[in-house]
Amino acid sequence: MSNETVTAAAVSPPPAAAPLLSVRGVGKTYGRGAKRFTAIRDVDLDIASGEFVCLLGPSGCGKSTLLRIITGLSVATTGHVRYRGERLVGVNPHATIVFQTFALYPWLTVAQNVTIALKARGVAAKEREERAAKLIDMVGLGGFASAYPRELSGGMRQKVGFARAMAVEPELFCLDEPFSALDVLSAESLRGELMELWLDRVLPTKAILMVTHNIEEAVLMADRIVVMGKDPGHILTEIPVALAHPRRRKDPHFQALVDRVYAAVAGKTKSEAEMASEAAQRLHQRLPDAELGALAGFVEKLASDGGTADIYRLGGELSLALDELLPIVEAGELLGLLRVHEGDLFLTPLGQAWADASILARRELVAGRILRQPTVRWIYETLQADAESGVDRDQFREVLAGEIGDQAEEQLDIAINWGRYAKLFAYDDDTEELYLDEE
Ligand code: ADP
Ligand code: MG
Repeated sequence: MSNETVTAAAVSPPPAAAPLLSVRGVGKTYGRGAKRFTAIRDVDLDIASGEFVCLLGPSGCGKSTLLRIITGLSVATTGHVRYRGERLVGVNPHATIVFQTFALYPWLTVAQNVTIALKARGVAAKEREERAAKLIDMVGLGGFASAYPRELSGGMRQKVGFARAMAVEPELFCLDEPFSALDVLSAESLRGELMELWLDRVLPTKAILMVTHNIEEAVLMADRIVVMGKDPGHILTEIPVALAHPRRRKDPHFQALVDRVYAAVAGKTKSEAEMASEAAQRLHQRLPDAELGALAGFVEKLASDGGTADIYRLGGELSLALDELLPIVEAGELLGLLRVHEGDLFLTPLGQAWADASILARRELVAGRILRQPTVRWIYETLQADAESGVDRDQFREVLAGEIGDQAEEQLDIAINWGRYAKLFAYDDDTEELYLDEE
């Protein structure tokens, strides 16, 4: 026996406990044949007992898909999920999922809605009632046990949904954008209730996995934020949140983390070289889905803020959701009007000139910039070659579909909208034909 083996055996720690949940190489493809669509690819994720993890990303990046696979409501196309080390087959009996909106039974009272799953599991009536009363109290609905759903506000109904999900005492509590259908106040109050239950360890729940597309919500609640990107959905990065509770939005550390997460969502955690090469590819591939009119407003606001602003705050001030904010910023970068650096926005000299320009001068400036985009240029040149008559939208779409497949429709829409904005071409909605704009 060699010395090495002896030493190794003497100091090696006991085998680490398996994580509560472990996802390996999970992918999901929907549809078949030409309609095949990869929603997520190669997802690896571990969740330990005691953790509150948020899945964050733009809509369509596969957050709900991943959550459904983790709870066993949906089957992965590739890879597998292990729960307490055991490979998951079928629905995970230790997990519960809470959706954006709840379908409560209108003919049952609040208490009956909460206990319905317990009845199905054969829990005796007395214990059911006791558990329901406790839970209803815990979510802040004390006094409403015998009310009917129609007598409750949306926020209160969502609380009943939480109580119902918690009644079965899940080990893994999964939530899919549970606050996004609520008004601001109800959402804030329900977040508070959930955090209290979780932090005081009132629940037997071992871990929480919550999907959100709200950065502040993730920084407010999670121990760790898993950031996802799309096309196809995948994990971009993970960011630990080492802030003590209760967290305050105005705390500079909180804001710094929000910026960091934003930068990660926008893909800005990559090296400069990676970004440059991606930007070059993007230039030839994809136009961000932003209205140039909205970009104009955005650039004006940035100019009036002195040419620089915190990206996330500016988005907030303009009431832009993440899904709206990202494409606008991307379009601004693509057209050379602004730059992003570590969560801050900077107006370029061109952007400043644009903000100061008259509407006519703006159009001209934008026309010059968007003609550098291959799709826009190609449409423009095709129309020039056939200046006498219009060209069917479908002709463009077919050619484009040959190159970029599924995205052709969307990309064509964006290119047409941008070209119209810059008065490069005109589009007849009735005949679906494109013309040069001769004005
Ligand atoms: P997210 O929750 O992040 O918004 P989803 O998981 O709902 O994303 O969807 C990811 C992608 O998969 C989207 O492009 C969506 O259109 C597609 N998708 C989701 N469910 C289905 C389905 N049942 N059939 C076909 N495509 C689907
Ligand atoms: Mg979803």
